[in-house]
Amino acid sequence: MIDPEKLHQLVLRFAVREEGGVVYRRYRRFRGDRWYGGIATADVVGCNLRCGMCWAWRNTSYVLAAGDWMAPWDVARRLDKIARDRGYRQVRISGGEPLIAPRHLLAVVDHLPHYIFVVETNGILIDRPVARELAARPNAVVRVSIKGATPREFAKITASPEAYFYKQLEALRHLVESGMLPCRDVYPAAMLGFSTDESAKELERALADIDPRLPSCLDVEYVILYPHVVKLMAARGLTPTRAVTPSGVPAFMI
Ligand code: SF4
Repeated sequence: MIDPEKLHQLVLRFAVREEGGVVYRRYRRFRGDRWYGGIATADVVGCNLRCGMCWAWRNTSYVLAAGDWMAPWDVARRLDKIARDRGYRQVRISGGEPLIAPRHLLAVVDHLPHYIFVVETNGILIDRPVARELAARPNAVVRVSIKGATPREFAKITASPEAYFYKQLEALRHLVESGMLPCRDVYPAAMLGFSTDESAKELERALADIDPRLPSCLDVEYVILYPHVVKLMAARGLTPTRAVTPSGVPAFMI
């Protein structure tokens, strides 16, 4: 079993650094991306999960000691330039888990008050204090990406204990209870590429228990069949039930 807490500590050791009260993280790439109708994107190094369908596994999420050290204002400056050049109103940190170093992330968010900052997270590290910090930032929209529809699917996808599935749901609860409006300030996403119709319904019920509005804004994710993702899934013994090609065409339904 892969231990997310051990991974968290490894990322803190190799890919997060504090100097003079400033928290630095390693980054591999800055780019404009087509998602969300256009978004400036920074790819950060390090994640506390090892999802078996992760598109970023080669360059960032599974990586610990690569990339350039950057302070929050440097990250913000690069994102701002991309967004201004391309006319985007949204920015994000992708490629890894941004909340491994919450102070770093929150500082980047604070440096970009005129953009919508989409905080893409697996949610595992969102406790009450972190939720309150996110809720205090009017430009932050939190997208909690749940891995699978049930604890069992979570364990299959991540090779981590089922208990962490519930932490993802708890993150949503903490964010809503901290004052973030469901479907406007916070919404769930879910990797349903290994799910059945039945398990997907189970997830909808679990979301409705947190807040009845959440199922209506569930953002469904399927496996994207990039060659390096197909290779990773084969190594992990994973076969998706639903997938799409890199150009977004449904690939097969089992
Ligand atoms: S949580 Fe996201 S970035 Fe981390 S391994 Fe899973 S899919 Fe990749």
